[in-house]
Amino acid sequence: MKKLSVLFKQVLRVAFTPPPAIRAAAAVALLALGLAAPAAHAALNVVATTSDVAALAKTVGGDDVTIITLARPTEDPHFVDARPSFLRHLSRADLLIEGGADLEAGWLPPLVNNARNRKILSGAAGRFLAAEHVRLRDIPATLDRSQGDVHAHGNPHFLLDPANAALVANALAEKLAALDPAKAAAHRARAKKFSATLDGKRAEWNRRLVPFRGAGVVTYHRSFDYFLAAFHLNLSGTIEPKPGIEPSASHLVALTAQMKREKVRLILTEPNRPIRTCTRVAAQSGAKLVRAPLMPLNDDYLAFIEAIVTGVESALRPE
Ligand SMILES: [Zn+2]
Repeated sequence: MKKLSVLFKQVLRVAFTPPPAIRAAAAVALLALGLAAPAAHAALNVVATTSDVAALAKTVGGDDVTIITLARPTEDPHFVDARPSFLRHLSRADLLIEGGADLEAGWLPPLVNNARNRKILSGAAGRFLAAEHVRLRDIPATLDRSQGDVHAHGNPHFLLDPANAALVANALAEKLAALDPAKAAAHRARAKKFSATLDGKRAEWNRRLVPFRGAGVVTYHRSFDYFLAAFHLNLSGTIEPKPGIEPSASHLVALTAQMKREKVRLILTEPNRPIRTCTRVAAQSGAKLVRAPLMPLNDDYLAFIEAIVTGVESALRPE
């Protein structure tokens, strides 16, 4: 009997002593509680792939985030040269914000794999894809990367439509709120303020571009499709025959003839496209060439769209 009683006590002790993993977790939780109370509130470390999503994150996150942008605003976002600092930034990030829709498919995945940061892996809480919050244009019926088409999952340049910027800003506020609940109200308030300011600016931009509704525009890459659609301008053609494909001489001859026939007066292109090709098409077709940014040059999304609106307006205004 005595033996049985000892055995029973041992069984009881084993049953009611938490396993080491649970004890350790409890200790960490208590430590975290102890540290969280007196410490100053740390800003979230955010890494953004491009300056458009960075500008929105800065607007929504304010001083509650510190933001590193990987691609330079003048770089082609499809083909970004990875610098050694990228891995360091990614390894420390609480949140990685990307455009998505394959925009960064050519350069971001190996960097994330090598950064050894579980927080920002695909599907983790610290990963945000802007493309998931907008309606993409030109989604192909079948996936086709033949000839190197870099828009095989739809057009990823959706932040050129200011309405999409409001959608992404609000979604970003929810993401930041989830990662930093203590600042949730501040994130949401800043997103709401941005949306309201943007509404006012959109009305003004619309007024300024109304006289040019239906005007034909040629671009180099399919970069400005969302901008043109937002302001009721028509994409007549592109200098690249397909996204990411160099134009042939015969393509340029056909395009120039089409531009003359359709009286296209504007070539809109980002600054990093081959200037000689663009000026030659402009000279041969009689259209004006406007080189507008594809990405904000600073943290100011509104100034970025303003620059494009001003460029288009000045080119299409009758002399
Ligand atoms: Zn593109």
